[in-house]
Amino acid sequence: MAIKRLIFFIIALASANSHCNTLKNQLIEDFNYLASDELMGRQTASQGAKLSREYLMQRLSLLDLEVTEQYFTYKPTLFKKSEGINIVAQSPKKLPKVIITAHYDHLGKRNGKLHLGANDNASGVAAVLYLAASLHRTPLPFELVFVFTDAEENGLYGSLHFAESINPKDVIMNINLDMLGVKERNKRLYALTSYSLKSHLQPIFSDLKNIGINLKPAYSSKQMNRLTRSQNIDWHRASDHYSFARNNIPYVYFGMGHDSYNHTAKDTMEHINIHLYINTVTMVEAFIKHLAQVSLVGLKVDT
Ligand SMILES: [Zn+2]
Repeated sequence: MAIKRLIFFIIALASANSHCNTLKNQLIEDFNYLASDELMGRQTASQGAKLSREYLMQRLSLLDLEVTEQYFTYKPTLFKKSEGINIVAQSPKKLPKVIITAHYDHLGKRNGKLHLGANDNASGVAAVLYLAASLHRTPLPFELVFVFTDAEENGLYGSLHFAESINPKDVIMNINLDMLGVKERNKRLYALTSYSLKSHLQPIFSDLKNIGINLKPAYSSKQMNRLTRSQNIDWHRASDHYSFARNNIPYVYFGMGHDSYNHTAKDTMEHINIHLYINTVTMVEAFIKHLAQVSLVGLKVDT
């Protein structure tokens, strides 16, 4: 009997391991495709953006989630009206929501050169696909909503539209992933959040400190500038998390800080350290699981 149980245990462990490896292999496959020439830099309203959505819809259709395309219009300039499309995947429950976002749009072609946006933000999009696959059946005390936003590069328009379409009272927080391509030289991943969330989240950040990535929490844009040795970046407004903050929803933004290849034709897969990237994504996964163990009542946005 004991031997039988041991064999069962070994088989269960082996199959859990192989499931885990399958998810990681898929993560890399997704990342490579999203940053490939075929998607031509995923500019909003382009053929590349359409192909990106088709890929996301196809990948999400394999999961037990309701997937919708959310259309919106916005005015990038006074006389211009443009269109964008977010993708939202969820399995509605009567629970408070944690909204995980990554923008799938990038710059397309600039000055005759394709800007593929591997770090910005194929890295975040592949991570959200991974999290959807790995967590959508995990019992958690909150509901996960996976949102792939459009038109971030033009001014955070997709996330703003989404954040305005929900009731902030139903939402615990936004977790925004943008530029997860952590660099070898410092192995740093930053988690920017509000000072008012510090007491809730600091224990989680310290638990996760040393799992292959150097996790650095920052509780203000000023602190983030100090840690990243950047000076004039308004990190609070730098990506989609700001749209949630504007609508009274707290956020945690995960990113690698300043990237000298950002918004250049050099933001390609060859500059991504895949090993560190996998560690980063699994750290974010662990962060979400840890959230289930702390009280998340009454989190507020700093004004
Ligand atoms: Zn970005």
